[in-house]
Amino acid sequence: MTAALTRATAVELLAAMGAGEVAAVEVVRAHLERIAATEERLHAFLRVLDEPALAHAADVDRRRAAGEPLGALAGVPLALKDILCTAGVPTTCGSRILEGYRPPYDATVVARLRAADAVVVGKTNLDEFAMGSSTENSAFGPTRNPWDTSRVPGGSSGGSAAAVAAFDAPLGIGTDTGGSIRQPAALCGVVGLKPTYGLVSRYGLVAFASSLDQVGPMARTVTDAALLLGAVAGPDPMDSTSLQEPAPDLLGDLDRGVDGLRVGLVAEEIEDGMAPGVRAGLARAVEALERLGAKVADVRLPHAGYGIAAYYLIAPSEASSNLSRYDGVRYGLRVDGATTEEMTARTRDAGFGDEVKRRVMIGTHALSAGYYDAYYAQAQRVRTLIMRDFAAAYESCDVLLGPTSPGTAFPLGAKIDDPLAMYLNDVYTVPSNLAGAPALSLPAGLDDGGLPVGVQLMAPALGEPTLLRVARALEAELAFDPTPRGARSSEEVRA
Ligand code: GLN
Repeated sequence: MTAALTRATAVELLAAMGAGEVAAVEVVRAHLERIAATEERLHAFLRVLDEPALAHAADVDRRRAAGEPLGALAGVPLALKDILCTAGVPTTCGSRILEGYRPPYDATVVARLRAADAVVVGKTNLDEFAMGSSTENSAFGPTRNPWDTSRVPGGSSGGSAAAVAAFDAPLGIGTDTGGSIRQPAALCGVVGLKPTYGLVSRYGLVAFASSLDQVGPMARTVTDAALLLGAVAGPDPMDSTSLQEPAPDLLGDLDRGVDGLRVGLVAEEIEDGMAPGVRAGLARAVEALERLGAKVADVRLPHAGYGIAAYYLIAPSEASSNLSRYDGVRYGLRVDGATTEEMTARTRDAGFGDEVKRRVMIGTHALSAGYYDAYYAQAQRVRTLIMRDFAAAYESCDVLLGPTSPGTAFPLGAKIDDPLAMYLNDVYTVPSNLAGAPALSLPAGLDDGGLPVGVQLMAPALGEPTLLRVARALEAELAFDPTPRGARSSEEVRA
């Protein structure tokens, strides 16, 4: 029974709870037990919220019994990335510099999850301030991949991806600045969607690179991801960059199929050095789409290859500005010094990890008077060219298809001392962030080593309904089994 509950999707759990077959408290307790059984091996969570989760679930049960209205995700367990502010609950961003920080308010996404009655079972691990692609940059130790615990889950939303993959929760919230929802989703065999910039409010999302950051859903099925996105999307007066128009209908078209749809296969990416297993996964996706009646043709994004260079100037530039607020004065860690300046310097030296320091230095340099035009301004021009590439591609295509990540999950430690190798993980994901457009990663089978492969679907701004529809059709055709299996999987841990 307990195992069956943790295997279920959000849609299945909602149906079972709605029919009175199971109580929200039982659902949440089963997932908390699963977390307790897997956490020692995975370390997906920085904080498990047992008591508040059970109290929220009991409240859902009580309101259901009383016939009171319930939210769209009533009683469904959810793993929340620890970069979204939760009132009164520590929010660390995977950093020592926020030690002791308890936000006085909820992020809009958190408030909407609460209003939808999703039950937050814990806050998940991440690369410090979401800077990284492996979750190894967390100040609190790495998360491990449920498919093979000697490997990384990807990052920076590695904790949420691992939690969803390990059946700790059917739903996860991640954030994506350059791939941090999609790449860990690919490496952990789950679905992850980065929404159109502005579709989901950033109020209460601790800022990394404000022109790129987006919050989005992670789940084991496309429908669950659509359901979750629907619960958090839409205008927010607290975020002036949130889009004014209401969110598009995400569920209505989900089962319309892809017959006649024009799919552009990103040719540069195919010619590139991706791992054989990823290439095979992509081929499976192409064949499946063609079987379903879609028309697949090559397209070119001539400037996408410059995306990494532009991203790794723009993101650190914005980060260096955003992270100046951690000065030891207002919140978090403080290391005393003889002067304010010395206190701030010591606090930042002790509080930030190596990767964050590297980004602050790169960004400060890129924005400095003598180098601004050569680096930051140039990167912004590349950003415009990439947007134009996408616009041109969408003249002949409805969606684009390519790999999510050049490889599958790599061993812990393999890239941590080589920042450039780590950055190259993001080569296929950053163009959508630079363009502000939505993109989704979907599992497309396993490589020869038994590790999940992700393929990426991209659409123009506000094309989420199309993305989800294509993903839903592909998902049904590919019939991927999300259960981690293999010699070193978390399935060795029996609840
Ligand atoms: N891996 C990328 C980086 O390190 C993307 C991170 C993200 O999307 N938050 O910046």
